[in-house]
Amino acid sequence: MADVMTDRGPLAAPSRALVVCAHPDDVDFGAAGTVASLTAAGCTVSYCLATSGDAGSDDLSFTTDELVALREKEQRAAAHEVGVDDLTFLRHGDGRLEATLELRRDITRVVRRVRPDVVICQSPERILERIFASHPDHLAAGEATLCAVYPDARNPRAFPELLAEGLEPHVVPQVWLMAHPRPDLVVDVTEHFDRKIAALRAHLSQTGHRSDLEEMVGGWLAGNAEQAGFDRGRLAEAFKVVPTV
Ligand SMILES: [Zn+2]
Repeated sequence: MADVMTDRGPLAAPSRALVVCAHPDDVDFGAAGTVASLTAAGCTVSYCLATSGDAGSDDLSFTTDELVALREKEQRAAAHEVGVDDLTFLRHGDGRLEATLELRRDITRVVRRVRPDVVICQSPERILERIFASHPDHLAAGEATLCAVYPDARNPRAFPELLAEGLEPHVVPQVWLMAHPRPDLVVDVTEHFDRKIAALRAHLSQTGHRSDLEEMVGGWLAGNAEQAGFDRGRLAEAFKVVPTV
């Protein structure tokens, strides 16, 4: 397994990673550069989407089913751009996601199937200075995913129906939280920026109107890189590492 470059120095890529997000496009805004770095280094990455973004369009000429189909197709295309072909859509309701036992079980099922070394998910902590990163669905997805990692996925008595499905307990050693107010792992994604933009462009229904997409996202990533003390011109994505063993 090759390395990915971080502010901690070269980091050996994990064998398997699972990204869990609330909506189609969240992973691409928050972590697609890192995902591209990981897959380029030989890591197998899977995605789990809690909702299919069925509240993510003001165009009421779409039926909900049409919007779900469109957004799942866009997310599959975006994933493909960064080397990901294993996607699970849990199809909970967009705009009304809650960290229920049902959502925890559904995420636990994916964790036990994928058996990742790292889970990348949204932060359950609201950032008051960046309210758009802290959509209530993101907070709920982050909370439910952390609960799935600890304790549910490792506890054989949690959701016994999963054992009956043949899904054995699994301990995830580490979680990387996106959009956290105090990040402590910064991944250099400069070489993968084009693939991140291609992934974001694949969400045509969400980003098609944004002629400034590259500039806007590039500005965020340059800011992350600068804060981490990277050389001028570098681009980075930032995470908070949660040790879970
Ligand atoms: Zn979102």
